[in-house]
Amino acid sequence: QVIYLNGGFVSKEDAKISVYDHGFLYGDGIFEGIRVYNGNIFKCKEHLDRLYDSAKSIMLEIPLTFGEMQDVLVETIRRNELRDGYIRLVVSRGPGDLGLDPRRSPKANVIIIVEQLAIYPEEAYVNGLRTVSVSTRRNVPDALNPKIKSLNYLNNILVKIQANLAGVGEAIMLNSQGYVAEGSSDNIFIVKRGVVFTPPCYCGALEGITRAAIIELCGKLGYKLKEEPFTLHDVYVADEVFFTGTAAEVIAVREVDARTIGEGKAGPITTSLLREFRKLVQVDGVK
Ligand code: PLP
Repeated sequence: QVIYLNGGFVSKEDAKISVYDHGFLYGDGIFEGIRVYNGNIFKCKEHLDRLYDSAKSIMLEIPLTFGEMQDVLVETIRRNELRDGYIRLVVSRGPGDLGLDPRRSPKANVIIIVEQLAIYPEEAYVNGLRTVSVSTRRNVPDALNPKIKSLNYLNNILVKIQANLAGVGEAIMLNSQGYVAEGSSDNIFIVKRGVVFTPPCYCGALEGITRAAIIELCGKLGYKLKEEPFTLHDVYVADEVFFTGTAAEVIAVREVDARTIGEGKAGPITTSLLREFRKLVQVDGVK
């Protein structure tokens, strides 16, 4: 396995950066998680758009152009002979002094790591996950706008810790107003009487690329889709609940806070969206 580090390729053991990097000291940086299917980078442009938007918002200069970054991604998967797997692209503010001031970190670090992916077992896509809601809240609106995919993931880590304590793989985070926001690293959808709902991003959700793909697929499959705020009550009484994300794809939920959802397994709309999504990933992508 080779890792891209600031213009070169190094082994895992040699992939090292400074302890003065503000990504480490302050969570000052941004990242993307991207899938490779069949040797193609899925939704490459969308991920790079989000990366460059995140960078612009936090005034972080990425030392590669959009086109150069795409070339480097392609080269990294080629050198690793990756056909199916996961890419982690990180741009951190880079080494500076111990103060916060980003002007003292003039050179960003760019890191690309590719890995095989350990995701949920196939059984989970049929039987669904158990999940819980957690007390960690997402403040909206907040400077830590989830539209910025920053290295500051403490809120999400706290959600994950609560999920671990409850013995579940993913959990539901509400926003400070009590509306459902998202999971620790997935967007959330519910289905009620044939209509698919997902919270608008202003409720405190990342503008997920899988989420956008599912919204588009709903249109293609003729499912009515509404982006509107909803509460835990709506989740409990939904016919279907599912999470979406780059790693998880489209994963059904069979239980929320000990309430069985629908038939207690992946429902028909979730199942057909997963099927169509898996077709899409095979044809869409940058080589
Ligand atoms: N929400 C959060 C907080 C995430 O970290 C992720 C993962 O990237 C998602 C949602 C899903 O987004 P995407 O489909 O772009 O992977």
